[in-house]
Amino acid sequence: MTIIAATQNKNKLREIGQITKEFGMELISQADAGLGSVDVEETGSTCEENSYIKAKAICDLSGKPAVADDSGLFVDALGGAPGVNSARYSGVHGDDAAARKIILRQMEGLPYKKRTATFVCVITLVYPDGRVISAKGECKGHISTEERGSGGFGYDSIFIPEGKRRTFAEMTQEYKNENGHRGLALKKLREML
Ligand code: IMP
Repeated sequence: MTIIAATQNKNKLREIGQITKEFGMELISQADAGLGSVDVEETGSTCEENSYIKAKAICDLSGKPAVADDSGLFVDALGGAPGVNSARYSGVHGDDAAARKIILRQMEGLPYKKRTATFVCVITLVYPDGRVISAKGECKGHISTEERGSGGFGYDSIFIPEGKRRTFAEMTQEYKNENGHRGLALKKLREML
């Protein structure tokens, strides 16, 4: 099955593509489907809503099945922020480096047990005939006191998954694919297909 990925985010595309390949889905980027300039506005208030909005828009425009990911980092001590605003927490859409600094500053001095956070990812697949399949993956952990590691993207360098000492950015991509929020959502989606 060939599916269009409703995202302009190359990192997400790579992670989703690596996993979907394992279960026989060929993923085409929005750009390769001729929709490179389409930027769907995320008007929902949950990852579920935004994931559906993106997949539905690209499915409608292309006439092909489309898959979208909406993800975010929910920090308990910040009342769930940045949450659905993860991509624009710094005020500039996509400036994850600035957003990481803001979060670390807002959490300065907080002890480890108060630094809990959850990465959430909702993946939604929308078919041209109207069928919708959606799955959620969650990964609990802690926010580090400083940025560590050079792998991954976004908030990976400040997120330590539960039971580990290293941040996602210090771990292998294989570990993240297997245990991360996106990998878990995709595994659930696979079971639903
Ligand atoms: P959106 O899903 O396009 O709204 O973007 C989610 C935001 O969370 C972006 O700033 C991403 O960089 C960040 N994000 C999403 N998934 C991950 C991840 O797996 N690791 C680190 N940051 C992520």
